[in-house]
Amino acid sequence: MTAKKATPKTPAKKSNLNAALAKPPKSIAKPKDTFNPKRDLAPERVAEILKRLAATYPNAECALHHRNAWELLVATILSAQCTDVRVNMVTPELFRQFPTPKAMTEASQPVLEELIRSTGFYRNKAKSILGAAKKITNDFDGKVPRTLAELTTVPGAARKTANVVLGVAYGLAEGIVVDTHVLRISRRLHLTKATEPKNVEQDLVKIIPQDHWIAYSHEIIHHGRQICIARKPKCADCTLETVCTSGDKTWSSGKTWPEQ
Ligand code: SF4
Repeated sequence: MTAKKATPKTPAKKSNLNAALAKPPKSIAKPKDTFNPKRDLAPERVAEILKRLAATYPNAECALHHRNAWELLVATILSAQCTDVRVNMVTPELFRQFPTPKAMTEASQPVLEELIRSTGFYRNKAKSILGAAKKITNDFDGKVPRTLAELTTVPGAARKTANVVLGVAYGLAEGIVVDTHVLRISRRLHLTKATEPKNVEQDLVKIIPQDHWIAYSHEIIHHGRQICIARKPKCADCTLETVCTSGDKTWSSGKTWPEQ
């Protein structure tokens, strides 16, 4: 008697299991991730988002420790691909040894590299900091400039860094800081469809009143770190949930603003 061929049950079972896991549980109604400019960019909706952000993060501010514009510029350069906590561990000793741009011009590249090594990419960062110190000492009388046009001529101060320094150190809103959180969440909230930071900023400055440009970035960065995290946003804990129509939502109350 010929032995009956074994049926390959396991792979079929596995694929059923995978399919079941891929489906969201019934309690989660994922909204369609469609961008509707008339609805999404309506001034009342934008105002509601800003109102909720301000109420949720009333004390949102830059987490990088600094005492002046120069220290903030250096800390922001160091924060690329590094946590603010790590930067804050490094800067006290750095500024103890080299407190001003002029003092920093006298630092040697190897000494500087050693002081900032733990922040990663330390060779490039040291080069930028030394370049910034020289430029500010030679061309701006030792003072960090107060305009975007001037500040972006300083080594290491691209548009995002310049916006951070102008907004936080001088309270000047010349633009909106677009980091990874601001880019991701502004897209999730359908405030932009752009993918490049510069284009995202251009979209945001058109719809966000200038007096909220500085706060918006701080609030969104806090929101991105605590709630609207990249992989698994905590939508059940989010104060923007009823106004958010993102397809990335992990939970929905089923309510939508303004009809609640
Ligand atoms: S509801 Fe979810 S996806 Fe939308 S902003 Fe809040 S955490 Fe982010």
